Amino acid sequence: MLAARTHVAGEPLRLEEVPRPEPTGSEVLIRVGGCGVCHTDLHLARTDRLHIERPLTLGHEVAGWIDSWGPGASAGLRRARLAGENGVVVFGGWGCGACRDCRRGQEQRCGSSRSPGFQLDGGYAEYLLVPDPRHLVGLGDLDPVRAAPLADAGVTPFRAVARAAAWLEPGARALLIGSGGLGQFAIQYLRRLPEVVIGVREIDPEKLDVAAALGADLGFLAGEEDLIFAGLGGPADVVFDFVGTDDTLALATRFVAPGGLVSLVGEAGGRMEFGFEALPVEAWLTTTSWGSPDDLRDVVRLARRRRLQWTTETMPLADAEAAHQRLADGEVPGRLVLVP
Ligand SMILES: [Zn+2]
Ligand SMILES: [Zn+2]
Repeated sequence: MLAARTHVAGEPLRLEEVPRPEPTGSEVLIRVGGCGVCHTDLHLARTDRLHIERPLTLGHEVAGWIDSWGPGASAGLRRARLAGENGVVVFGGWGCGACRDCRRGQEQRCGSSRSPGFQLDGGYAEYLLVPDPRHLVGLGDLDPVRAAPLADAGVTPFRAVARAAAWLEPGARALLIGSGGLGQFAIQYLRRLPEVVIGVREIDPEKLDVAAALGADLGFLAGEEDLIFAGLGGPADVVFDFVGTDDTLALATRFVAPGGLVSLVGEAGGRMEFGFEALPVEAWLTTTSWGSPDDLRDVVRLARRRRLQWTTETMPLADAEAAHQRLADGEVPGRLVLVP
């Protein structure tokens, strides 16, 4: 089968013929319908910062169709009513299934988690081997090609917003830094909460237009930061950083309220200072990575009820490197999906 793989950090992805996996035990083989292209994939392919073993097939935002499975997967597929023609989206935080976090349904936190496109081969390929049917969520009438971004761009901000609930009472002020693939979902989750003021800081004016159409109240371009306090009506109760560079974290520090929350989602590798002098008093800091399996089921439910909007643009799997370049150049308004 065809796969787009990273061999050396900073070198173009290589399109290769690799053996098609054979599912054994509880494994399920997914015929990939589409795999979203995420900024994290760029960081993985082009830097050594995220410590992966190469060669590796990238891609952690996968949806498709069940192709075949090992004998140990039959009962799980039956229980989840997943056998048949319907599409599935793949939950990507593959934990051990046995530790305290996994048993509590927080599998994305598992200390020995191995995820597709990070520690194991991912979805930039014609097929993806999934270790267990519990990682699959049925898509009903949603098209897997279009639904692929739900696996990360959809679920990760869902969890970030859910974890910020205590700070998002009516009248609260939220500032989003970056409104690309993930930020556009975050705006919609925030809009579902009563009376939250939503400000977006972006470097791309077109993305600000999209943010406004999705329900953001205020948009600030880079260079307009002096307007943020007045626009929001004060410091932000929550700053969501969907970029995660030193610069954007410095903005988060500047605009978070005393007692407010900085939620770091973007994996650009930035750092911020922590300490009394560094932050408003009693501010909280957290990261969010993936969501839980239940979070993904909730997101799919919203999508199936047509409560979420997102735009996808497809490119052939063979053009994976060109897709990375377009994302690096900031030329992607929604989510790029690679189609084998
Ligand atoms: Zn991602
Ligand atoms: Zn575990």
